[in-house]
Amino acid sequence: MKTGKAENSNYDVAIIGGGASGLAAALTAAEGGARVVLLEKRNHMGGSSNFAEGLFAVESEMQRPMYMNYSRAQAFRNVMEYNHWKANARLVRAFIDESAATISWLLNRGVEFTEAITNIPDGWRTLHCLKGPFGAMGSPMIKTLTRRAREKGVDIRLATPAKKILRKGDNINGVIAEREGEPEPIEAKTVVIASGGYANNKEWIKKYTGYDLGVNAIPIRNYDKVGDGIRLGWEVGAAEEGMGVLHFFRVGPMGPGVRMLCHVECACLQPFLWVNQQGERFCDESIAFNDTFEGNASARLKEGYSYTIFDDATKELMVEHGIEKSVSNKNLTGTRLTNFDRDLKKALDKKNTEIAVAGTIEELARKIKVEPSVLKATVDEYNRFCDTGCDEVFAKEPKYLLPVKKPKFYAMKGHTVFLGTLGGIKINHRMEVVDEKEKAIPGLYTVGTDAGGLYGDSYCFLPASGTTLGFAVNSGRIAGRNALRYIGK
Ligand SMILES: Cc1cc2nc3c(=O)[nH]c(=O)nc-3n(C[C@H](O)[C@H](O)[C@H](O)COP(=O)(O)OP(=O)(O)OC[C@H]3O[C@@H](n4cnc5c(N)ncnc54)[C@H](O)[C@@H]3O)c2cc1C
Repeated sequence: MKTGKAENSNYDVAIIGGGASGLAAALTAAEGGARVVLLEKRNHMGGSSNFAEGLFAVESEMQRPMYMNYSRAQAFRNVMEYNHWKANARLVRAFIDESAATISWLLNRGVEFTEAITNIPDGWRTLHCLKGPFGAMGSPMIKTLTRRAREKGVDIRLATPAKKILRKGDNINGVIAEREGEPEPIEAKTVVIASGGYANNKEWIKKYTGYDLGVNAIPIRNYDKVGDGIRLGWEVGAAEEGMGVLHFFRVGPMGPGVRMLCHVECACLQPFLWVNQQGERFCDESIAFNDTFEGNASARLKEGYSYTIFDDATKELMVEHGIEKSVSNKNLTGTRLTNFDRDLKKALDKKNTEIAVAGTIEELARKIKVEPSVLKATVDEYNRFCDTGCDEVFAKEPKYLLPVKKPKFYAMKGHTVFLGTLGGIKINHRMEVVDEKEKAIPGLYTVGTDAGGLYGDSYCFLPASGTTLGFAVNSGRIAGRNALRYIGK
């Protein structure tokens, strides 16, 4: 391979990755007067950030008119307790403290929001929803920040992956990128790692989590993310933190005739009877209201899926009175599943094997390859709990105990999926990368999902919905500011 040197290759800040975290760092640094280059591996910007619905903040200008009395201090305590104080407390505090200013920062740069909501019953309204097309609500934010970054002179290079970080002695000197198959050295005083994790790295997922990628842990909307930034950071001395934490949740049936978030999927995600491939219950199904809880419970099943079982009476309830659990903000609580029969027919016409309908529980069991006597016993026991209003096994709240008695009976496969990986490189609360001795590596920063320390063993959904995108933008801004300080701007 020959080594080429581009004319303009001398920068203050080089950013590896063009998602929300990298863009926030790039724009912050450029607005502060730095010369910035941003390398993006793919031929378009945004990574997984394009698909996020919204971001966490507390005490924001959008929350104030709602008289929301959830404070930074309270959110900090809640997050730390949720994570059993396994998270880096200074990092969590820095993120939470910055979050309100970040909403204002985005608003001032033309990013549009709809409202701050909660997606958990009795949760705090910390999720600041972005205004955007359904399924890609983050993309207008990415477009706005990209345009702003270009206006501020950021040199954005698409289809240009970073291949190596250059470090000489104590100092970071830049990166080697690859352009059209050729290595291209880029000098820079600081480097920000923002490559979005390793959700598509089969070997690492197996090594750090034990799951088989695409089999019992399916990545959603992550493309070509193999942990480049994490590996490059480790190569220049970064310590490791947070490997093996996945952002799990549970989705409905896949395959022919099923569209994401259609009414069949909405039904599957409700807190009805859930069974594993052995035909037994495995959780209080009302944990469906907490993505992390349902994701973690599903992830305990080695098959990577479970079945949601219900009967015609429950189906009628969903059609006539609506659903209990919101399925994204397209299908909020109370949405009537008036398209259920149409969506079901579409899937069955296409011979989708993840959905079964039958006249008896035994027939249903055979269709989903569960031992009929086991499923029958599970359903009988569940129906008894429904009759008495007391779930003797998992203590599910009586209002979610709906019997499975009236044919037809339905079974739908719910899959264990994950939205990304959550960790890799150890950082401090200034987003500076630290080495094994906890010493900051001067001029090297990590942001977004490449960084470890924000979580315990799971995504923090309950007290701080919107944490991952929130952390991406906040950590990017903090790193951008600290890079400016480091270069004396
Ligand atoms: C479907 C979906 C919905 C979600 N919804 C929410 C939500 O509502 N709220 C929330 O908080 N979080 C949500 N998340 C999670 C959130 O989107 C991510 O945690 C966040 O976007 C991560 O930002 P990032 O900048 O770290 O990574 P990304 O946005 O993925 O950006 C990383 C970028 O780095 C690039 N890259 C990789 N390797 C290299 C390399 N060698 N050189 C150069 N570039 C490289 C990638 O191509 C990518 O563009 C969701 C995720 C998904 C998938």
